[in-house]
Amino acid sequence: MTTLANPRLTPVSDPQRSPVPDDIRRPVAPAALLPLYEVPAGCATTYEEIADCPACVLAKTRSRTVPGSGPAPCDLMFIGEAPGQREDELGLPFVGRSGQFLDDLLASIGRSRTDVYVTNVVKCRPPANRDPNPEEIAACRDYLDRQIALVAPRVIATLGRFSMAKWFPAERISQIHGRAVQRDGRWIVPMYHPAAALRDGSLRAVMKQDFAQIPSLLAGTV
Ligand code: SF4
Repeated sequence: MTTLANPRLTPVSDPQRSPVPDDIRRPVAPAALLPLYEVPAGCATTYEEIADCPACVLAKTRSRTVPGSGPAPCDLMFIGEAPGQREDELGLPFVGRSGQFLDDLLASIGRSRTDVYVTNVVKCRPPANRDPNPEEIAACRDYLDRQIALVAPRVIATLGRFSMAKWFPAERISQIHGRAVQRDGRWIVPMYHPAAALRDGSLRAVMKQDFAQIPSLLAGTV
């Protein structure tokens, strides 16, 4: 992975481009998260376009765009719903409590955040953490499709119902979680969002069980 000038870290020199002051633009991230700011060379243009994107109303209230983290290409990709408050502050996906649980789940299959690609269906935080609406998801869809093409994963795990709906629009997550389906030459595995497991502790074991099949899917031994 190449370290490039990152729009999430680099102050904007043109004051007309954004009203956000430089001191707010510079996130103070814990040292452990700094590797997640590295931008894969192939993703740089997409990340920069996202950083300036005005295509839906979420552009008006975001602090930072949250394009994604991790290497590209990468065999394993996770797609969540939308950035929350901490993600909006740092410009990184899954860095709050849900992210800590995601880290635990990754550790259970011998992976870590630096060797998986993580993003959301929308790249800007909905106010008050409301659900992203269909217009916002549609406006952001091209970025996600480009990321999937750049990452070219063998396995995509959707986290929560909004990313699940991209492939399984008529299904309920309670009925299809953990069932891997092949689409366009890769496995798509719908899973609960880690935040759901924080609200309902019984889902922790369910998510761990759903994660346990990922190594077999990656190895092609299913
Ligand atoms: S959510 Fe997506 S489409 Fe909307 S402003 Fe952010 S980057 Fe653009």
